[in-house]
Amino acid sequence: MTLLRRHLGVFLAGILCATGLPFAAPPPADAAPGVSRVSDIRAWTNEIYTRVAIDTEEEVSWQANTLRADPARGLPPRIFIDIRGAGIQDEILRKPVEVRNGLLRQVRVGRFDRGTVRVVIDLERESTYRVFALPGPFRIIVDIDGEGEIPVPPPPADSAVSAAPAAIPPPVESPRVAALQPATIRKHPVRVMIDPGHGGKDPGAIGPTGLKEKDVVLEIGRKIREKLSRSGEFDVRMTRDEDVFIPLEERTAMANKGRADIFVSLHINASRNQRAEGFSTYVLSRGASNREDLELAARENGVPIRKFQGVKFIIDDMFTGARKNESLRLAKTVNDAVVRHVSTRYPGVHTLGLKQAPFYVLVGARMTAVLVEASFISNAREESRLRDPSCLDGIADGVVEAIRYYGQNGILAYSDY
Ligand SMILES: [Zn+2]
Repeated sequence: MTLLRRHLGVFLAGILCATGLPFAAPPPADAAPGVSRVSDIRAWTNEIYTRVAIDTEEEVSWQANTLRADPARGLPPRIFIDIRGAGIQDEILRKPVEVRNGLLRQVRVGRFDRGTVRVVIDLERESTYRVFALPGPFRIIVDIDGEGEIPVPPPPADSAVSAAPAAIPPPVESPRVAALQPATIRKHPVRVMIDPGHGGKDPGAIGPTGLKEKDVVLEIGRKIREKLSRSGEFDVRMTRDEDVFIPLEERTAMANKGRADIFVSLHINASRNQRAEGFSTYVLSRGASNREDLELAARENGVPIRKFQGVKFIIDDMFTGARKNESLRLAKTVNDAVVRHVSTRYPGVHTLGLKQAPFYVLVGARMTAVLVEASFISNAREESRLRDPSCLDGIADGVVEAIRYYGQNGILAYSDY
């Protein structure tokens, strides 16, 4: 403890000199009662990507900054986040996160001055980064790209689409055509991360007779993995394979860390309107085109809608057009195939089509990423359908067919480089 503090003191002095700020007062013995404390630091990292999550007990104000390497002082490039009006839980002070993997050296936290906590991320080399906060519970997320954005070749002119939330989807050939085309030769299997939403303490939406979204999407996810793994062309992983709670930002981080080419988040829709029905598949956008989609995203994000207005700029900054085109292509293919497969088993299957909304679980995803809303659990007819394994097979078959098609025809984030 003493050693860490002394070391941290030297470390902060280096920062202070570099920024020209006055020398810091000695750290207070303990945070004042009632102050929101940093309660955890979590990190997911490989040599080209790192996500750090800083948990605080309450919403706090914060500011992020960087410092270049200072070889004379032996200091690496650093990102630091100052959290005002905050304290630190003692166990966090004692546990700097050591990584040393070529991108991230370590994450440290200390009291910078009275009422300010500073989280310092020591990098191994200069990197681009983004910082944003998510509410409910409040956490600050730092995404670090060791190689900058993954390059994406410009899409063909005929599939270019506007980035506007209400964009018309690009024309996508029927997945049935895929079988007639030669498969792309790849060096290794296409990596797919299947993300069954919710889990554990978070049941997701609940149907009129008690069916839980978390159970349905886990079952669909397992079916997708089983069907997709048969050929050996795909390396399929799941963010969860049991009834456990996983924070949204961790799901994205798992896909990024695992260098997934395709990320599919599985959900079941719900509405106060008990007649609402149909399948839809979403990509990330900074806003939603209507109130229903905004309410849906708020619910899936686990935040009240009144807290949900201020994140638009974050997503705008996070998401570049090229990967979005690929996500739109996959989303359209997924939705069409799911509806077609379920329609062979049931009459009157309704589609709401390709849509866009600000889902946190898609923010910062480095690969083609979509979120499926596989009908409405709030609709009695659709809920009873979701109890039928044959329906879940149909949904899984649709997703599998779309991933197979996209795996052969899409521009993959990792496997194509
Ligand atoms: Zn959901």
